[in-house]
Amino acid sequence: MNLSINNEAAHYSPYVGDKRKFATGDVVKIDVGASVDGYLSDNAATVEVGESGQHSDLIDATREALNAAIKKVRPGAQIRSIGQEIGKVITSHGFKPIRNLGGHGLNRYDLHSEIFIPNYDDGNGETFHADMAIAIEPFASTGIGMIHNGPGGHIYILSGTKVRKDEPLYQNFNTVPFAERWVAKIMPDYSDYLHKMMKAKEVSEFAVLREHKGSFISQAEHTLLILSDEVIVTTA
Ligand code: MN
Repeated sequence: MNLSINNEAAHYSPYVGDKRKFATGDVVKIDVGASVDGYLSDNAATVEVGESGQHSDLIDATREALNAAIKKVRPGAQIRSIGQEIGKVITSHGFKPIRNLGGHGLNRYDLHSEIFIPNYDDGNGETFHADMAIAIEPFASTGIGMIHNGPGGHIYILSGTKVRKDEPLYQNFNTVPFAERWVAKIMPDYSDYLHKMMKAKEVSEFAVLREHKGSFISQAEHTLLILSDEVIVTTA
């Protein structure tokens, strides 16, 4: 689970002993995934802490963009047409789509496969085809619409070509991302262990993806299964 706040778009997850608190008016992206035998879903929504409703339009922008994008998905549709739709809806609300973040394909035990689904028309002529699982995730910003890497967000993944099947992290999480909190549950010396594994380049930590301070970002996400005759939203 990611809990990313305000100018953070994604990849922050609370760690054991985390003292961070929510404040009224915070824009919180709740991004969760589920795995059934490695078949994955990815789902996110944005909420504002408290009831001031200052950011309702920002939150509505990505929800609307997601709904509009879902209607365009079918085998043979160009991937750029989804980005075009997302960009159009977000811009019509007066916000910027985040250009260097987007949706992705999902394969078994692979949360981010090679397909990239942009939040704007990036000119990519690739098309969807039947029997594909994808996640569509519009991001809207009050800032410039480009994120950069911040500090580590306490989410990790077994990396590269060095994945060992006898590795306890592999046995628990396979090749999907895992939170530091989950590692704490399976081993007492989790902190040293993760550091050692990162040093050996067997584990990578995801950086928090964020915009400049003072900006606010919203996100909405669903996972879709594209079949030859229908599209199923598996997270609805
Ligand atoms: Mn996703």
